Amino acid sequence: MSKAMQNLSRRFPKLVDSAIKAAFTNRGFLSWNQGIEMWTIDRPVASCTHCTSFCRRNCYTNKAYVQYHHIMPTSDIKNEYRWNLMTGEALADEIHRKNKRARSRKVERVRFCSKGEPFSELSDIGRIKSIGMENPEVLFWIPTRSWRREAFRERIETELLQYPNLRIMASIDPSNSIDEVQMIDKASWSKMFFGIDNVEEAEKVFGIKFAKCPKTHEGLHGSCQMCNLCFAAERINVHLKKH
Ligand code: SF4
Ligand code: SF4
Repeated sequence: MSKAMQNLSRRFPKLVDSAIKAAFTNRGFLSWNQGIEMWTIDRPVASCTHCTSFCRRNCYTNKAYVQYHHIMPTSDIKNEYRWNLMTGEALADEIHRKNKRARSRKVERVRFCSKGEPFSELSDIGRIKSIGMENPEVLFWIPTRSWRREAFRERIETELLQYPNLRIMASIDPSNSIDEVQMIDKASWSKMFFGIDNVEEAEKVFGIKFAKCPKTHEGLHGSCQMCNLCFAAERINVHLKKH
């Protein structure tokens, strides 16, 4: 059982059995996220083992946890339960079935995780690796803060960064130092930044160049499905603006 699942089971013992029972009712591992118009695989914020003081305070999920406080614990348990059962092969099977009958919304791009941390524990590295290997025709976009821990950073660099369909990006924010950002820059990580809206100012703070995210800078609807910045094969640094 993952640490996030242990945490949720401790906090919401009465919800666990019923949530687990319904975890796969009328659905699989993937969810359609209308906001970004993409397939996503999410985890609870309880999986965020590498979050920063800045990201906790400014997390885009805070609003959902307030607004939907009555359903979030059950939804979190379901998400984490599914996560723990997910393998590359099981996900490939679901994608194959979905794409066979899909007229629209084909599974070609998947976002890990629109909430939560994909590399919450070291064991998640093997899970993501098997997903990349078993689904070579699908692009997986994987922002993560796990680069902040050496043990994670080293294994991701040696085991995952070379996979062409795993678009792993280091999430950075104003609480990170220029030295940290320069270090991952030298190690060839793509990066995704949020927290200083002025691009030139952010470039000066970290000593790197950014490409502007069209969705947050220009308000283009549904552009994650069409945009190639976060899905580029080459290394890239993306700047997100508050929107
Ligand atoms: S890691 Fe992401 S999901 Fe988790 S608290 Fe930080 S911003 Fe929110
Ligand atoms: S840069 Fe493109 S893919 Fe990345 S978040 Fe913005 S719109 Fe989406």
